[in-house]
Amino acid sequence: MLERNLVPLDFLKRRGGSAQATRPGTTPPPTASAALPEEVIAQEFQLKLNYAGKSSEGVRMKAGPTAMNELPSMLVGLARSEIEVVEPLPIEFSQATPVIARPSEAMQWLNAHHVHSPVTRHALVVLESIDAIDLAFDTFVCALLDGEVDTSGYPEYNAVVGGVASHWDEATGDMIVRSVVGWGGKGARGDTDRIGSRLLAGLLTNVLASQYSLGLTAVERPVPAAGRGGLVCAHCGFASAHERAFYCPKCGMRLLRG
Ligand SMILES: [Zn+2]
Repeated sequence: MLERNLVPLDFLKRRGGSAQATRPGTTPPPTASAALPEEVIAQEFQLKLNYAGKSSEGVRMKAGPTAMNELPSMLVGLARSEIEVVEPLPIEFSQATPVIARPSEAMQWLNAHHVHSPVTRHALVVLESIDAIDLAFDTFVCALLDGEVDTSGYPEYNAVVGGVASHWDEATGDMIVRSVVGWGGKGARGDTDRIGSRLLAGLLTNVLASQYSLGLTAVERPVPAAGRGGLVCAHCGFASAHERAFYCPKCGMRLLRG
């Protein structure tokens, strides 16, 4: 119905004229109806998605499982929802991507993350899409930090989500923790960036205040393996997709090479 209204009037007249001239059993002249109108009137469709985020410098922490257990406490005072821990993904989820048009990758992603809260899933979609976290090696601790959720519990576009992400330094085996925040969706607001910066700083302050903190360090993110490969951790059984990792992305123990 809508389309008809948008077709130019003189074009409709021409089509009507050729239809009247057609008798049963005869075909209309092909050029009459196949001719393009002089101007195509198009109805425009567009979706603008805006995802953004920030990641701080890293803080080097004394290695050991106790430091790992302290990660959720670094969000205390800033979290406005339940604090959730997302562990690195084992090798069977190494293709997991939050892109619905890629069904195999999307199914892996859903199988890995359907157990998490709407806030955490939203944070993973935003932060993985902009490459601010990589669950091949990051442990991600997450909560709603600012703004509102909708009636289904999903953060609004201007809500800020995030927390801390940690990985094991491939050279020393130290744990490196950084603060990470993100936001986005169908829209953008001018003050969200400033709120995000303030929360990033607040989280980094909490990380530096940890008893295990050894101070700021440059973040060198591990490079995930291109193909299959990697090692199975003898301590916790985690199968890493990471063939260059010297330390288990999950428990931080040294990986043994055969
Ligand atoms: Zn392990």
